[in-house]
Amino acid sequence: MEKQIEKLYSGFDLYQVDMHFSDKQKALRQEVRDFVEREVMPKINPYWEKAEFPWEIARKMVDLPIIGGGLFEHGAAGLDFVEMGMVMYELGKGDGSISTFYGVHSGLAMGSIGMLGDDEQKARWLPDMVKLEKIGAFGLTEPDVGSNAAQVKTTARKAKGGFILNGAKRWIGNASIADILIIWARDDESGDFGGYVIENPNDTEGVGINDIWGKVGKRAVLNADITLENVFVPAENRLAYVNRFRDMALVLGAGRYGVAWEAAGVAAGAFELALKYTKEREQFGKPIAGFQLIQHKLVEMATEVTLMQTLCLQLSHLINRGLLSEGSVSMAKYNNARKARYVTQLARECLGGNGIVIDNHIARLMLDAEIIYTYEGTNEVNLLLVGRELTGLNAFT
Ligand SMILES: Cc1cc2nc3c(=O)[nH]c(=O)nc-3n(C[C@H](O)[C@H](O)[C@H](O)COP(=O)(O)OP(=O)(O)OC[C@H]3O[C@@H](n4cnc5c(N)ncnc54)[C@H](O)[C@@H]3O)c2cc1C
Repeated sequence: MEKQIEKLYSGFDLYQVDMHFSDKQKALRQEVRDFVEREVMPKINPYWEKAEFPWEIARKMVDLPIIGGGLFEHGAAGLDFVEMGMVMYELGKGDGSISTFYGVHSGLAMGSIGMLGDDEQKARWLPDMVKLEKIGAFGLTEPDVGSNAAQVKTTARKAKGGFILNGAKRWIGNASIADILIIWARDDESGDFGGYVIENPNDTEGVGINDIWGKVGKRAVLNADITLENVFVPAENRLAYVNRFRDMALVLGAGRYGVAWEAAGVAAGAFELALKYTKEREQFGKPIAGFQLIQHKLVEMATEVTLMQTLCLQLSHLINRGLLSEGSVSMAKYNNARKARYVTQLARECLGGNGIVIDNHIARLMLDAEIIYTYEGTNEVNLLLVGRELTGLNAFT
């Protein structure tokens, strides 16, 4: 007999944001929500604790119609922007490592190929990536280059039949399990910015990939330091339609959009779990949810989650109508990442000592929120992008 799956989430939606979703969108959301309840929640904690990648969960994502996100070709999911956001929201509610694995593979890596590759490159890589037979990674950040990502120091030198890459990367998600690693580098002569695809990086001469241990959040997805010493990349592996950092910023913008939804999901997950717990947990002879101080926390959380949901939804409408600006995406990422931190901490408080162990999931979500605060542009960087749009003045340098 099939094991009964505990329903942890109710789908909190006080402002009925739901009314704006089509039946098709709701059906997709339900499918992802069921996947999270069935495959992620009962299994993820030991992987998170051991800092081990959960292949048994990740492999099953191929059964969901979500791989490739907004791309349409080669079997990709062809999601609209609301659907893309919903997927990140639902995955985020369950686990930040799973949402990051998906965001890196499907969004950053497949997105780079889909948006910046030519037809031949798309046909070569995307079909296997859609089936999760090949896993993608996206290598932009370097040991000395983080927030100032446009100033990458990794170089590409023209050579017979291709390019020679030299440099180092840091924090690269999925790298140690990747079959398709995109390295962002500058041409050492022209200074052009480019994306270079290294196939089978773990078996490529000159490539060193070492996982980073001791992470305190998103522990079930692995991030690596990468060294590149005279790595040959064939000419046909340079992504065809990128010469400037700005070309690639399209991919980063889409990623940032997804992370704004992911942050809302992490917060909503923590809130729903805290609500359930406080209604069941009794102290002083009654459920703790009946105490005013607990209700204060619940209302704070519910309000912030509602604000995040409505912000994300309006952002998706802006995108669908082509009205998006850099500042509007950054504002959502800035707000939601900050508030996800706040909400998950309040949720943890509501569980007292039980909030300190990951069995109740909230501590895991709280620590995952720390990563969301920092990646896809730190909170400060996103704030400054909004500030630049508001004032027309650049505060970065
Ligand atoms: C778990 C995890 C996963 C990641 N995955 C990937 C990945 O798959 N691929 C990838 O390429 N990268 C990835 N990253 C890298 C991530 O994008 C960077 O960590 C991030 O951009 C910040 O860079 P940094 O860590 O070097 O911090 P720094 O840039 O050194 O920043 C340190 C602090 O200084 C602040 N700061 C910097 N400049 C300014 C300024 N001008 N004004 C005010 N404050 C400033 C920052 O906001 C931050 O608080 C990941 C990071 C983490 C932690």
